[in-house]
Amino acid sequence: MLARSDREEKLDTAPLLDVKGVTLQYKTPKTLVTATYRIDFSVFRGDRFILLGPSGCGKSTLLKAVGGYMTPTEGEIRLKGSLVKHPGPDRMMVFQEFDQLLPWKTVRQNVMFPLLCTHKLGASEAEDRAMHYIRKVNLEKFADSYPHMLSGGMKQRVAIARGMAMEPDILLMDEPFAALDALTRRKMQDELMALWDDTHFTVLFVTHSIPEAIKIGTRILLLSPHPGQVKAELNGGSCNGSSAELERHIQTMLFADAIEEAENV
Ligand code: ADP
Ligand code: MG
Repeated sequence: MLARSDREEKLDTAPLLDVKGVTLQYKTPKTLVTATYRIDFSVFRGDRFILLGPSGCGKSTLLKAVGGYMTPTEGEIRLKGSLVKHPGPDRMMVFQEFDQLLPWKTVRQNVMFPLLCTHKLGASEAEDRAMHYIRKVNLEKFADSYPHMLSGGMKQRVAIARGMAMEPDILLMDEPFAALDALTRRKMQDELMALWDDTHFTVLFVTHSIPEAIKIGTRILLLSPHPGQVKAELNGGSCNGSSAELERHIQTMLFADAIEEAENV
């Protein structure tokens, strides 16, 4: 048996999330849609891992599969070595839509809700935990407000606080800032980075925006158009000397795909 410290060390160096050869398909009565084809990637603890690719390349589908909402046709997804078979509180999701909160519950109650449902904490501890994360997203003044009283950006902050309050192994974010105006989007990206500096959580973040991927990602998985296949894995802007150069590099790769797709039509 390994000594405790060795075991811990092994856990730290092993991938937190392992996606191997994952093909995802939708079967409709008339057609079979292949959304992703044999995707491989690994996410390590503390990664800000980006899935970047054009609309329709299967990013949301891949995130849904990691969330346990879809089963791969081929390949496997493992979290901490265990096969992902169902959704679970170890993988909290933040969506693009502003309507992901319960409209009849306040901000505080929305953030407490999953903590109470999963019996993770008792009522008073859940409230303390919820308020801790509500403060982290700078919404303490709005703890007793209802979702309809909040702006889109504030609603997304609540969704982030709700996800983080569960302290999941990995936070899954599907274009969470895509429906915001450009200024708010930039502000939210900065806030997410500040939160990460604070808690070093692990995030799998989907976007079709190259600048967003470069700004947020420590690692970027670039996917080809439909069906999504791995085109390249790159270090993000924060790990790279020149973001402008990285942006040009990614644009060139995506542009080559667009030309190929046009030629095949
Ligand atoms: P992205 O998030 O990259 O824009 P999606 O994962 O939403 O892409 O979709 C990938 C492909 O799967 C697209 O061709 C889309 O039309 C198809 N698709 C998505 N959801 C369904 C569904 N529920 N039924 C059938 N096809 C779907
Ligand atoms: Mg999508």
